[in-house]
Amino acid sequence: QEAHAAEMERTFIAIKPDGVQRSLIAEIISRFERKGFKLVAIKIVVPSKNFAEKHYHDLKERPFFNGLCDFLSSGPVVAMVWEGEGVIKYGRKLIGATDPQKSEPGTIRGDLAVVVGRNIIHGSDGPETAKDEINLWFKPEELVNYTNNAEKWVY
Ligand code: ADP
Ligand code: MG
Repeated sequence: QEAHAAEMERTFIAIKPDGVQRSLIAEIISRFERKGFKLVAIKIVVPSKNFAEKHYHDLKERPFFNGLCDFLSSGPVVAMVWEGEGVIKYGRKLIGATDPQKSEPGTIRGDLAVVVGRNIIHGSDGPETAKDEINLWFKPEELVNYTNNAEKWVY
């Protein structure tokens, strides 16, 4: 079971400063937890502007890049790694479309956000970005391997 856990897919999820200020930390964590995904790393940090630019480096040509990086570094962010089968793709499904005007009800952004510049949560968009973002935000020793009691009933 240890070996199985080590091979499990992981994704990087962050509650952005708007989600933290709006007291949505528990609400957001709860949705991932109730689904059956496992929290393997968590911390609260205020990223520097430079760090935000690293996180969003793929978007540096976009007109909103500077404002986006200012925003991400404007206050505390809850950085997490979640683990489970299909967690990268299904995590994006729980989060909903980038623009909350287009996110379905039932998704985090659909239920809890209104505009694209304040969409409260980040989730890795694929296996490569998941690996890169986990490595950017966490040291290897901050990731915890453990078996929780529920998972033998989830799988
Ligand atoms: P996602 O967060 O869904 O993966 P992107 O990677 O395309 O979306 O964009 C990263 C973040 O940049 C979005 O979550 C959003 O906060 C911001 N963003 C995206 N598009 C716009 C836009 N047109 N105007 C302002 N901010 C935007
Ligand atoms: Mg993205």
